[in-house]
This record gives sequence, C-alpha cells and structure tokens, in this order.
Amino acid sequence: MKKDKILVIGACGQIGVELTLALRKMYGDTNVVASDLREEHELLKGSGPYVSLDVMNKEMLHVLVIRHNITQIYLLAAILSATGEKNPLLAWHINMQSLLNVLDIAKEEGLDKIYWPSSIAVFGQTSPKVDTPQHTVIEPTTIYGISKFAGERWCEYYNHRYGIDVRSLRYPGLISYKSAPGGGTTDYAIEIFHDALESKAYNCFLKEDTYLPMMYMPDAIRATIELMEAPKDHIKVRSSYNLGAMSFSPKEIGAEIGKHVPGFTMRYEPDYRQQIADSWPGSIDDELARNDWGWKHEYDLEKMTVDMIKNLKQ
Ligand code: NAD
Repeated sequence: MKKDKILVIGACGQIGVELTLALRKMYGDTNVVASDLREEHELLKGSGPYVSLDVMNKEMLHVLVIRHNITQIYLLAAILSATGEKNPLLAWHINMQSLLNVLDIAKEEGLDKIYWPSSIAVFGQTSPKVDTPQHTVIEPTTIYGISKFAGERWCEYYNHRYGIDVRSLRYPGLISYKSAPGGGTTDYAIEIFHDALESKAYNCFLKEDTYLPMMYMPDAIRATIELMEAPKDHIKVRSSYNLGAMSFSPKEIGAEIGKHVPGFTMRYEPDYRQQIADSWPGSIDDELARNDWGWKHEYDLEKMTVDMIKNLKQ
C-alpha cells in the first residue's frame, strides 16, 4: 500500500463514485477521503471516509487538506455542458474558482499531485471535426468549453510557474451504469440504454447522424489512474491530453442496442443540446496520450453495449 492521502472532490458524481472506489482499492480505504456538496452516494457508504465540502469555500478546503494530511487532490466538481448553458455565469464561477482554490492550496501546501478533467468541449466550430488533434484551433462556444479551456491554461501555468504536478485529460462523453450522469450533452448515450430496457423505445434529443467521441467508464477510470501513476517525466502535456476510444451516432448505438432488445425503436426530437453537439468534434486524435504514457482503450461500441445491457439487467 502507498502512503499517499487522496481527496476526491465531487465524489458523488458520475465519475467520482467509480473513481473513488477504484482509488480506495489501490491506496487503501482510509487513505481516500471522498467529499461532495451532496449527501454521500449509496455506493460509497461504508467504503471509507466521507466529508461534506463546498469546494468554493477555500478556507474549509484548506483546513480539510491540512487536517487529513492530503497529498493528492482529484477535483471532479463542475457544472457540465447542458446545465452550464442554463446559467453561464454560475458555470464560469464554479468551474474556474473551484480549480483556482485547489491549485492555490496545492501551491501553498506543496501537494504531490493534482488531477482535474477537461473535456472535448474545449473544441469549437473552427476545430477540425474528424480526428481532432491535440494542438489545433481552439475556440469553444459553450460556457462549459470556455471554462475548460481557461482551466487548461491555468493548469499549465501552475505547472510551469510553480512546478505543481497537475495532470489532466480531455474526456469524451462517458457512458456508465453505476451512477447517473450530471447534465451533459452526451447523456443521451446513457438514457438510451435505460429507456430501451424499460420501454423498448427512446426519444433522442440529438439528430440521428450526430457523431460524438465517447468512452465507457471502465476505460475512463483506468485512463485517469494510469495518467496519475505515470512517471512525472512521461507527462509532456501539462494543459490536458486528448483521450479517445470510440465515435458513434445515435442511429449507430440504437442499431447496436437493437441487436439485444428486439423491437427497439427510436424517435428524434433535437433540442438546444443539438447546437452544443454540432460545435464539438466527431472523433479525437489521442496519439500523444498513447505515446507519452501508453494509453490504450479496451471498449468499442459492441463490447460496451453487451456490458451495459448485462449490468443494467441485473
Ligand atoms: P457530475 O455532475 O456527475 O458530478 C459532479 C459532482 O460535483 C456532483 O456530485 C456535485 O454534487 C459535485 N459538486 C458540484 N458543485 C460542488 C461544490 N461546489 N463543492 C463540492 N462538490 C460539488 O459530473 P461528472 O460527470 O462526474 O464529471 C466530473 C468531471 O469530469 C467534471 O469536471 C466534468 O466536467 C468532467 N467531464 C465529464 C464528462 C462526462 O461525460 N461525465 C465528460 C468530460 C468531462
């Protein structure tokens, strides 16, 4: 067992629950402190320490870090893309200030490592749509994307200026069955499984031919841990790494689910989220992640669909 002491902020969210459980397996239950604004998630109960925390309260966060001898922070608290468009100033405020609070405490306390996720939402209409490269035109149009891009610049700045070992991934849309998604544009790819199994029908909020980069949660958790465990000198990108696994449209995932759910039908009623999806890449070039620290995805659309359906039926 390692001596590190980890704080996960936003531990009750879609990624946080699974990441906290995975980290507890690696580092020991008591060495991973879970925290969130919300009540403790059912799946976390009894698995290790839980603290109620508003990451916007810097003093409270600072005291928590000192009291628990924290050496690493995983900051997952954020306002996601679709929710962010409903209240842009709030999304900007929370997404930026939470990161600045964490980076600054990392600097003051000399923490070992910080993890903070960015998103494919940093890319906008002017970025190449297919196999979007790591370094390209970046002009996000959603407030979520703007805040993620600014956050990436802050991460790199704190690394270059103060030597903070901050690491980051630009997650694609993440698909999981354990905890509910938090208001993103790719949430359709989770809802579709639930509706297919409950009613054999799904009304999709995106058009049938909208391609987006996606990843199954076990791959995302493994990528996060592998990035954080990689030797320091392998991490060449200090803003945020492009990360990819698969790319599909609503029509394609619908057809894949139809192989397991006879009679499954889909309708399409695009809403405001179509515009967000249209501004994002269809697929991602993650060559640097593959070269620098050995990223390799395991799940494609077919394998993920089989696993999602098997687990949701249980
Ligand atoms: P989520 O919305 O499911 O979870 C976020 C958690 O943060 C929630 O449990 C919420 O209660 C908590 N939180 C919000 N404000 C807080 C505050 N002030 N103090 C403490 N906790 C607070 O989000 P997620 O899907 O788990 O995403 C985690 C991170 O990954 C975010 O930075 C998100 O932008 C990024 N990301 C997610 C996806 C995805 O598909 N899920 C894709 C790209 C990037």
